[in-house]
Amino acid sequence: MPADRDHADVVLTGGRVHTVDDSRSTAEAVAVRGERIAAVGTAADIAPLIGPRTRVLDLHGRLLVPGFQDAHIHPISGGIDRIECDVRESRGRDGVLATIRAYADRHPDDPWIIGSGWYMADFENGTPRREDLDAIVPDRPVFLPNRDGHSAWVNTRTLELAGIDRNTPDPGDGRIERDPDGTPTGTLHEGATELVERLIPVPGPDKTLAALRLAQAYLHSLGITAWQDASVDASGQATYRKAAEDGWLTARVEAAMWWERERGEEQVEDLVERSRTGSVGRLRTNSVKLMQDGVLETYTGSLLDPYLGRDGRPTANRGIDFIDPEVLKRAVTRIDAAGLQPHFHAIGDGAVRACLDAVAAARAANGLSDTRPHIAHIQLIHPDDVPRFAALDVVANAQPLWACHEGQMDELTIPFLGPERSTWQYPFASLLRAGARLAMGSDWSVSTPNPLEEIEVAVQRVFPESRGRVEPFLPSEALTLAESIRAFTAGSAYVNHLDTETGVIAAGKLADLAVIDRDLFAPEAGPIGEARVIATFVGGAPVFEDPALG
Ligand SMILES: [Zn+2]
Repeated sequence: MPADRDHADVVLTGGRVHTVDDSRSTAEAVAVRGERIAAVGTAADIAPLIGPRTRVLDLHGRLLVPGFQDAHIHPISGGIDRIECDVRESRGRDGVLATIRAYADRHPDDPWIIGSGWYMADFENGTPRREDLDAIVPDRPVFLPNRDGHSAWVNTRTLELAGIDRNTPDPGDGRIERDPDGTPTGTLHEGATELVERLIPVPGPDKTLAALRLAQAYLHSLGITAWQDASVDASGQATYRKAAEDGWLTARVEAAMWWERERGEEQVEDLVERSRTGSVGRLRTNSVKLMQDGVLETYTGSLLDPYLGRDGRPTANRGIDFIDPEVLKRAVTRIDAAGLQPHFHAIGDGAVRACLDAVAAARAANGLSDTRPHIAHIQLIHPDDVPRFAALDVVANAQPLWACHEGQMDELTIPFLGPERSTWQYPFASLLRAGARLAMGSDWSVSTPNPLEEIEVAVQRVFPESRGRVEPFLPSEALTLAESIRAFTAGSAYVNHLDTETGVIAAGKLADLAVIDRDLFAPEAGPIGEARVIATFVGGAPVFEDPALG
């Protein structure tokens, strides 16, 4: 078909176009030619660009936004979870068991039954028993981590293979759940799960490629057009490369290479080499993931002042710095000097400070580079450190779904931080007011990758399933809908070094777009998380379309 230079290939018209572009914040219609946006304007402005071959999509008053970009996500493991025995949608002990039985029946030749996603609340004392699994899978080992990955449910065959019995001591970093006589019950916690995990075959390339394909389709169905994979090892990088070389990597991906804590600074040379060969098609590999601490719920998040005990008094425990702060300064200085991006995991205020100090050291040594360091999670930030994000030009990479009252926050976090520090959590509005750049992401498969549910919590500070029943969590830190959409589009595009081409709807930019089934800015829109994406475009090409699009 000859190119038609006067007319658009696709016109989306008759809706609210929320551009995230300061020069023109709203419009009614967008024209796409090739992979780029040709024009943005009123329906009348765009009408002359409709030719005989133009595909015209009437938005019927719906919302068009730039494609969402997830700034911290694990799509390959998320995809593997969905390929394996996934019990996230199963409810109650019987529902979970029925799902496992059906999966085992469908996979009679799998040597292991591997899956994940059960909820502690579905089982007595939060600890499911091996006998329930034995009754449906007696002959093959079963390994099923729970939703947050801190515990795993196994059957008797698995315990036998791992050599775990009443005489096995608990490992130093974990616990084997037992009956009063010491017999393992079938639930393993934290480091005890490693006794089994080391026996499980690592997924081969067929499985990781299938996982990526599944994850990509799922993420496109949620309006996601680009992401930063928050932990890519050599095999993950090979998976992405293969997808890009074979031409089916439709998402734009920045891969963050995993920093091996047990190795030293010399690994920077290896990372530079991996980065050099890591840009194929829409794949780029210019980021380095540095995991600085754990999580507050297990006292592994690094704090400036100690955790409180059950009696409300300070303990001696300040959590763990996974990387020594002085080592971190040198590592980040070298990573930044090499032109690679530091992508930190920091949960506690001690870890956040260590990461900011490391960037300060890099800035002092290298000047202001364009590597765009970002700190993901940022659960607890000491108030003195909030202005440092803007001062050091460090991006605050928020996972907003967690900024709400729920069991882990109310029972496992607030009591051990105390009343004052608890108010320093997820200070998104304070960061924005202090001039920080804000990006957003999900940490899927830890949490849902649905940006609309995450944005609902950023705006309401209430978990979608608790709507109307639970008080907002620190409502003064809530963002507006427009601020949240900006963070999830232009903000994350900045982190991904895609901001010159994507993240806003403007003439000349790449046509990465998402159509939402209602105008979220309308008073009658209802809860944000109930809205659905009905079409997603990357570079002008549809990568997801719901029949509701018409
Ligand atoms: Zn993560």
